[in-house]
Amino acid sequence: MGLGSTLLFALFVGLAIGSFLNVLIVRIPKGENVAFPPSHCPACGNALKWWHNIPLLSWVALRGKCAYCKSPISRLYPTVELLTGLLFAVVALKTGLGVEWFVVSLIFALLLALSVIDFEYYAVPDSLNLTALALALLLPLLLFGWDWATGNLKDFDLYKEMLLTRFKDAAVMALAFWLLGYGVKLLIKKDALGEADIIIAGTMGALLGFPLVLVAIYIAALLAIVPALFARGHMVPFVPFLALGTWIAWVFEPTFMRWWSLLYA
Ligand SMILES: [Zn+2]
Repeated sequence: MGLGSTLLFALFVGLAIGSFLNVLIVRIPKGENVAFPPSHCPACGNALKWWHNIPLLSWVALRGKCAYCKSPISRLYPTVELLTGLLFAVVALKTGLGVEWFVVSLIFALLLALSVIDFEYYAVPDSLNLTALALALLLPLLLFGWDWATGNLKDFDLYKEMLLTRFKDAAVMALAFWLLGYGVKLLIKKDALGEADIIIAGTMGALLGFPLVLVAIYIAALLAIVPALFARGHMVPFVPFLALGTWIAWVFEPTFMRWWSLLYA
C-alpha cells in the first residue's frame, strides 16, 4: 500500500472507532448499556437510521441537527470522530498498518474518550481506564505472542523481557503518582491526584517506558499550569493534559530521545 492509501485507510478506521467512542462517552458515565438500545436522538428519542450515523459526513449533511426534531447535535460528536480519525492516521505514519498500529491507536482513542469524559464529569470510568492500561501492558504479547498468520504460539522467552519491562515501568509510575497524591493530600488536605490519574500514570509508563514517560509528565505539567492559574479554585481536569503529554511524547519520540541522549550521554 502507498503512503496515501495507508493514511486514508487509517483515517477511515479511526473515524469509525471515533463514532463508537461517542457512544462510550455519552453512555458509560450514565451507566447505560453501550450496545442497546441502538443510537437514538437524546431529544426526541427517535432511532437513527444508518445514514444518520456515518461519521463526520452525517453531521455535516444534517447541518448539525436531528433529522426528526431538528434539535441541535453537539459539535462534540464530529470533533471526537475527526480527532480519532487523525490520530489513527498519525500513528500509522510511525508504525505502518498492523497490530501495533491498531493497539496503540486504540490506547490513544481511549485516552481521548477519558479526556472528554473528565472535562464533562470530573471523573472517569475505570472500565475504559483499565482497558487502556491492559492494552499498554500486553502490547508485546499481542505483537510477539503468536504468529497472526498461522495462529501458532511463539516462545515466551522472545518477548518476556519486553513484557516485564512494561509491568515494571507501569508499577513505578503508578507508585510515584500514588505517593505524590498522598504527599499533596497531607500538605493541602485535598485530593489532588485520584485513582484515575494513578491508573493513567501506569498506562503512560507501560506505553512509553523510561525515560520517555518523564518527558510526557513534564509536558503534561507545563500544559496544565496555565488553566490551573486561571481556574482559581475551580477543578481542573488533569486527565486531558496527561493524555496530551503522552501523545506528544509518543509522536515526537525520536526527537525527545535525541535531546535526552545529548543531555545525559
Ligand atoms: Zn431528535
